Amino acid sequence: MPDLSETKILLHICCAPCAEYPLAILMDEGVGVHGYYYNPNIHPAVEHRRREEGVRWLTDKRGIDCLYDDTVLQEIWEQGDEHHEGRLCERCYGMRMHKAAQMTRELGLEAFTTTLLVSPYQKHDLLRDQAEKAARAAGVRFLYRDFRTGFRVGQDMARADGLYRQKYCGCIDSLNDSRFKNRILGEHQALTDLAGGL
Ligand code: SF4
Repeated sequence: MPDLSETKILLHICCAPCAEYPLAILMDEGVGVHGYYYNPNIHPAVEHRRREEGVRWLTDKRGIDCLYDDTVLQEIWEQGDEHHEGRLCERCYGMRMHKAAQMTRELGLEAFTTTLLVSPYQKHDLLRDQAEKAARAAGVRFLYRDFRTGFRVGQDMARADGLYRQKYCGCIDSLNDSRFKNRILGEHQALTDLAGGL
């Protein structure tokens, strides 16, 4: 494993619970981390904000800088012909990894990685392929780590921190597939009502 203790990398963050373990590991190794929240796949907007709030809380706690991009691109997930064979996930990973690679270059950092690598529910190899492709295109390095070994540890840390732990990946398809769909929709409605009442 390369010594990265003098390096500052960009960490693409999909959500706070997934960030717990990679952040802890990288910071323990002395790696400088700059966070980047860019997840236009998360729908609806109220859920996007809810996850962003968790990331803000965690990055504040860890004392790291983090950039936030509020882009939400729901229309891509409403186009019917890509909803099969993982093509939508490929596009979803590609979009996020390309922006992360570009941001790495813009910030003058050496490499990037992503908290998506911690989740056993993601298509890990497809994600890695997309990230490596994005790194080559941007002329930066992708730091691959199989963070999945720390998934349970990270979830325990998130529980101890009282973080919101979502029950679906992010897009409308994954929400519709969730066995918690009705509960999630109820929570979204409650949050929307609350925001309207403020
Ligand atoms: S299931 Fe997850 S990775 Fe796949 S398209 Fe939906 S949000 Fe993206």
